[in-house]
Amino acid sequence: MLNLDHHPSGRHFLQIPGPSPVPDRILRAMSLPTIDHRGPEFGALGRDLLTRIKQVFKTQHPVVIYPASGTGAWEAALANTLSPGDPVLMVETGHFASLWARMAGKLGLQTEVLAHQGDDPEFPSAPNWRRGVPADRVEQRLKADRGHSIKAVCVVHNETSTGVTSDIAAVRRAIDAAGHPALLMVDTISGLASADYRHDEWGVDVAVSGSQKGLMLPPGISFNALSPKALAVARTAKMPRSFWAWDEMVEMGRDGYFPYTPSTNLLYGLSEALDMLLGEGLDQVFARHQRWAAGVRAAVQAWGLPIQCADPAVYSPVLTGVITPPGVDADKLRQLIHQRFDLSLGTGLGKVKGRMFRIGHLGDSNDLTLLATLAGCEMGLQLAGVQLAGSGVQAAMAHFSAHPAPHVRVA
Ligand code: PLP
Repeated sequence: MLNLDHHPSGRHFLQIPGPSPVPDRILRAMSLPTIDHRGPEFGALGRDLLTRIKQVFKTQHPVVIYPASGTGAWEAALANTLSPGDPVLMVETGHFASLWARMAGKLGLQTEVLAHQGDDPEFPSAPNWRRGVPADRVEQRLKADRGHSIKAVCVVHNETSTGVTSDIAAVRRAIDAAGHPALLMVDTISGLASADYRHDEWGVDVAVSGSQKGLMLPPGISFNALSPKALAVARTAKMPRSFWAWDEMVEMGRDGYFPYTPSTNLLYGLSEALDMLLGEGLDQVFARHQRWAAGVRAAVQAWGLPIQCADPAVYSPVLTGVITPPGVDADKLRQLIHQRFDLSLGTGLGKVKGRMFRIGHLGDSNDLTLLATLAGCEMGLQLAGVQLAGSGVQAAMAHFSAHPAPHVRVA
């Protein structure tokens, strides 16, 4: 039960990189009465959703929707396409990539972890969590696999634990340059509907996504977008699967239905989210996120703090990881900011816990929401005794003022 004894006035600032704030329009849509998921109304809803969601993935091929969090859709991607003991190449760019690799191991796959090594002074001998997928190393590794034993290359598009967005088209080129038949599987759980993603154009075989990030829904539904090759491979893949099996889902999805009870009210929310996102236009959605990210980075740079992503070419439009100075526990700082300003920031995950915090700038946000978020961070940093080089809020204000949002017509 939530503690309702103390209800702070005003809105809570949920600035973690997902779940992101759910717009009132979506909350209202989800409050409609639950309907019969085998009835005619549902079929119409399901057909519409399963058609329109393809536009968000930029695919012509089937998308399946699970009543599960993103982790379930990770498992579905592996279980539908692989056989026990299959070698898989898991590229570790951060905590979520490492969790997906751990899952593959638990499922009985033979995982090989590939990563940028070194050049992070703090973790010199560990996989580098400050850079994107090293496509050149993927190519080298696949070229060396002359017998084509590796069955899949798994990468995270937007690494939510660090704020690094990898170049998926470059990974596709690397696989093609090696002439290797491995499937390309991409986790775009926090990328979809915030960062540019092109399933068909980039030749992705299986994409994994979730509801609680760019789609602006509560957690609870997740997705696999498929390629014809992934569907063909699934016919002979031997990993045990039932709940996650694509065949029945794709078959029943043609008429808009599911093999089991779907999350009806979350699907109402998805319908509203698609109205919002497709109505705005995906290019506009991506540009909005890039602009916010640049404003937030201007703030972090003005504070004089390092950004977790060390390569400007792969800065995330979705979130920014901020490294705290030595001796400043990022989790204590987050706690202080939460208590004083009712603002939630993302924790450092895995090996960077306590060393950094994450500012989410995705979904239902705007310039002033982000300026307030940065003000909360700035006050918290000062209260924690951090000597700031300058005002991040001023820098972000200057950035947002100098770069009007594309939809704003300046008279
Ligand atoms: N992958 C990425 C990139 C994520 O950001 C998350 C969650 O934040 C997950 C996987 C796991 O998804 P879930 O927590 O919805 O199961």
